Amino acid sequence: MTTTQETTVAGFDTLGLAKPLLDALADVGYETPSPIQAACIPVLLAGHDLLGEAQTGTGKTAAFALPLLQKIDIKRAVPQALILTPTRELAIQVAEALQKYAHHLPGFHVLPIYGGQSMVVQLRALSRGTHVIVGTPGRVMDHLERKSLVLNNLQTLVLDEADEMLRMGFIDDVKWILEHTPAERQTALFSATMPDVIRRVAHEHLREPKEIKIRSATSTVVTTSQSYCQTHSGQKLEALTRILEVEDDFDAAIVFVRTKTATVELADKLEARGYSVAALNGDLTQGLREQVIERLKAGTIDIVVATDVAARGLDVARISHVINYDVPYDTEAYVHRIGRTGRAGRTGRAILFLAPREMYMLKLIERATKQKITAITMPTPGEVANRRVAQFTQQVVDIIKSEKLDFFFDVVRRMESEQDIAAREIAAALAWLATRERPLQMPGANDHAPREAATAPAAVASAPTFAADAERKPTKPRAKPAEDYPAADAPRERATKRGDTPVKLQSFPPGTLARYRIEIGRNQGVLPKEIVGAIANEAGIAGKDIGQINLFDDYSSVELPANLPADLMDVLRRIRVRQFALKTRVMEAGEFVDTRPPRRATPAAKKPDWKKPAGAKPEWKAKRER
Ligand code: AMP
Repeated sequence: MTTTQETTVAGFDTLGLAKPLLDALADVGYETPSPIQAACIPVLLAGHDLLGEAQTGTGKTAAFALPLLQKIDIKRAVPQALILTPTRELAIQVAEALQKYAHHLPGFHVLPIYGGQSMVVQLRALSRGTHVIVGTPGRVMDHLERKSLVLNNLQTLVLDEADEMLRMGFIDDVKWILEHTPAERQTALFSATMPDVIRRVAHEHLREPKEIKIRSATSTVVTTSQSYCQTHSGQKLEALTRILEVEDDFDAAIVFVRTKTATVELADKLEARGYSVAALNGDLTQGLREQVIERLKAGTIDIVVATDVAARGLDVARISHVINYDVPYDTEAYVHRIGRTGRAGRTGRAILFLAPREMYMLKLIERATKQKITAITMPTPGEVANRRVAQFTQQVVDIIKSEKLDFFFDVVRRMESEQDIAAREIAAALAWLATRERPLQMPGANDHAPREAATAPAAVASAPTFAADAERKPTKPRAKPAEDYPAADAPRERATKRGDTPVKLQSFPPGTLARYRIEIGRNQGVLPKEIVGAIANEAGIAGKDIGQINLFDDYSSVELPANLPADLMDVLRRIRVRQFALKTRVMEAGEFVDTRPPRRATPAAKKPDWKKPAGAKPEWKAKRER
C-alpha cells in the first residue's frame, strides 16, 4: 500500500511525463504535482492497475488523465481510453481537463457522452472518431449495445467517483461495462470512500491494484482562529475584498491560490482595487522572491498572493491573515498554510473559501486542526460602509486632536457668513469631497447606519480600507508585482517604499501635452494603470502630467508633456511593461485617430489645485475611470 504524507515538492518533470504534457502543465500554471498526482502518475505510467482513495479537489483528474494521455496513439482515432463518471457535469469537466492537458497533442479528440444529450449528435460525433470517451454509465452502455461505441482498442478504463456511481444506482451498469471491455486493459478506480461494494468491484475487476490514499495530516492543535466562508468561485474576489475591509486587526495577508497564473491574475485584480500586493510563485528567481518578502516585511506591500510551494517556510511576523482563496489539496497543506500566520507569539487568523461542493473539506480540517471552524458570510455593502464611516470618523477625530486648524476655522466661518450656509452643510460637502475618490458607500449600501457606525468602537484602525489607506498606500502609483520589472529596478523600488521620498519627479509647467506612441496594446494585455505606473515610477513623470491613454490592438497612445528632453525620452523608450519595451516616440500628425466624442483639453491641468484627500486614489486611477 502506498501512502503519501506531505505535499510533494519535486516537480512534474520527475514523474516521467512526456514533454507535450509538461508543456501543457506549464501553460495552465501548475507548479508542482499534488500529493495524489505525485503518487499515482508513476504507478499508472508503469502500467499498474490502481485503487485510489481521493476526493474532488485533490487533483485526481490530472492524476489519471496525464498517464492516460501519454499512452494515446494520436494516429488512431479510435477510443483508447474510457472514463466513467457519475454525472454529466463531471463528464464535461473531465473532458475539458483532458482537452487542456492535451493542448500540445495536435489532432487529439475527447468526447463526453451522457444521458439527456441528443443521441443523433452523439452518434455523429462518435462516427467522426475520437481517442477518449468520458461518459455516464447508462449512456455508455446504450452505445455499447448499439455498437456505436466499440471498445476493442481500449487500453485504459477509469472509474471516477466510484462511490457516487454506487450511490446513484449505477453500480450494475459499471459492472456490465467492465465485463464488456478488453480484459488486458489497465484500470484505475477512484473513490472518495471505500465501501465494501467498491472494494469487491476492485477485487473482481482490477489486477493486483496499487492502493493509493492520501493520508490526512496528523492532528495538530493550532492557535490560529479559523473561519470559512461558503462562496461560489465567481464571488470570491468580492468576498475577499469585503472581508479584508471589515476584519479587525488586519496587518498583512497571504492569499493562497493553486496556480502560478492565478497568483498573477489575482494580484493584478487586487491591485486594481487599490491594494498594495505582489504575486509569489515558483517562476520568480530567488532574488525576486526575496524582494517580495522584504517588501512584505517592510510594509511596502500588504498582501502576497502565493502558491503553496512558493510560500513554503515564509516567516513574516506581520502576517495577520491567511486567506485560503483556493481550497488546499489536503489537510496537510492547510496546516502548512495557516502556519504562516500567528508567528512570533501573535494570534493569527485564517479564512477559508469553500464552494458548496468543497464543503466536505471542513470536517477533515476541523479534525486535523482539532478546532471548530466558524462560519462567516460575505459582508454586506452596508457592513462595509459602516466600517468605512467608522474609519472616516476616526480620521476626522484624530485630525481635530492633532492638527492646527485655525486657518480652516476662518475659511469655514467665512463660508458660513458669505454664502449663508450652515457649518453642518459645509462639513457634509467637505466629507463628500474628501471621499469622492473612494466613496464611503458601496453600491447598494443603503442599509448602512452611519450613526451607529460613528459610535462603534474604533477597533478598525488597522483594517486595509479607506482610512488606513492614508498611511498604507503611497499616493504615487504602486509597483507592479515584482516579476514585471527587472530585479535591478532600484529607482522604482525606492519610489514605492512607504514614507520614502519617491524618485525625483520631473517638474513640468502646466501646458501643452503631446501624444506619444508606445509599443504595447490590448493584445499584450496591458492595463492603463500599468502604463501610468511604469512611466511615473521609472521616468519620474507625475500622474498629473500624464494625460489620456488610448489602447489599440498592438500599441497605445499616451499624452505626456510636449518636448520632453532627450535623456527622458531615452528612459521612456527603454521602459518595459509586461516584458515589452515601450519604444516611446512622439506620434506624427494624423497618426492618431480618436473615435471618441471630444473631451475637455488636458484634464489634469484643469483639476482644482486642492490637496488630495488622504486615502484618495492616485491620479492615474481616477483618470482611468473617467
Ligand atoms: P480535481 O480534484 O481533479 O477536480 O482538481 C481540482 C482543481 O485543482 C482543478 O481546478 C485543477 O485544475 C486544479 N489542479 C489539479 N492539479 C493541480 C496542480 N498540480 N497544481 C495546481 N492546480 C491543480
